[in-house]
Amino acid sequence: MDRLKERRERLRRLVRQQGADAILITNFVNVTYLTGFTGDDSYLLVPATANSGKGDILISDPRYTTQLQEECPGLPLDIRPPGTEMLKAVAKNVRSSKSRNLAIEAGSMSVRLFAELEHQLRSSKLLASDGLVEQLRLIKDKQEIDELRISVQQAEKALSVIVAGLTPEQTEKQVAADIEHQIRRFGGRGCSFPPIVAVGPRAALPHATPTQGRIGENDFVLVDWGAFGNLYASDLTRVFVTGKISPKLERVYELVLKAQRRAIASIRPGISMEKVDSVARSVISAGGHGKHFGHALGHGLGLEIHEAPRLAKGRKELLEAGMVVTVEPGIYLPNWGGVRIEDDILVTRNGHEVLTSFPKEFAECVLS
Ligand code: ZN
Ligand code: ZN
Repeated sequence: MDRLKERRERLRRLVRQQGADAILITNFVNVTYLTGFTGDDSYLLVPATANSGKGDILISDPRYTTQLQEECPGLPLDIRPPGTEMLKAVAKNVRSSKSRNLAIEAGSMSVRLFAELEHQLRSSKLLASDGLVEQLRLIKDKQEIDELRISVQQAEKALSVIVAGLTPEQTEKQVAADIEHQIRRFGGRGCSFPPIVAVGPRAALPHATPTQGRIGENDFVLVDWGAFGNLYASDLTRVFVTGKISPKLERVYELVLKAQRRAIASIRPGISMEKVDSVARSVISAGGHGKHFGHALGHGLGLEIHEAPRLAKGRKELLEAGMVVTVEPGIYLPNWGGVRIEDDILVTRNGHEVLTSFPKEFAECVLS
């Protein structure tokens, strides 16, 4: 069975457990995951039993006919004619699948869409389900991991070029734009999120937006960037010394690096997500900066830049082989700056593999 069909079979099992006859997938990222279709504005109906009604069907419109034939050969389609409303087409398919209890994706549906669906499907009951496809997406298969590797390579090659050509006159905005350009030159689709390029004190903001500030106006710069090679996102952070080396920066940097290394070393199947977070947090607290590390240690990575799981306090779930997470401890000191170091980690059967390889020893990050 092909991997996309297999994903839909696994989803069918989850839908049955919810007591539903079918599920309507309205989250486009989940539609991509289940069908390989990369366009928008298309919903997927997946019955709980493969032989009930007409089976899986993707409801789309004529703009996508050719793309659908290329990207999902063999998948039954309902190309609604121009002028036919999407939800009328959905209702027709739900009726012919004889689904009385239709699961919907509560986490990604607007109130308006819900109300219109209820109106169109008066004879069916809508059951709110949450995160069923996201649950499947937690564990990456070999092809997904290969795609992630490519996204990592493109991000790393792009930043190597940027770093080699960095000058004090460049602005944060210019560097961010150059990252996008270089990722595309190396064959990527583009950045997986708008890059953060933050000089000196602006690095104290974990989600700083690039400004017209110049690289040379302070002694260091934080860069948080990633690529979409094709559909999968990479995500890294490095700090570069562009001016004189301050002992404070070196101390903070070494503490963050130590916390990150310890946390990465702890990653293996069976360890809880909150435990990995606490490994890093205890190193930073012991160094006196506990209250300056104000975010979770890491997040899942895949079709989206932030997805399940989360390495955070209170997350008791266990890591499993095939999960991919970032490990990104940080220390942020208002009016001074911040240091964050971020890598992408695959949980393997025996432990873990660090997918990223951009240098991170303090001495390797000194450009001046
Ligand atoms: Zn990042
Ligand atoms: Zn991240």
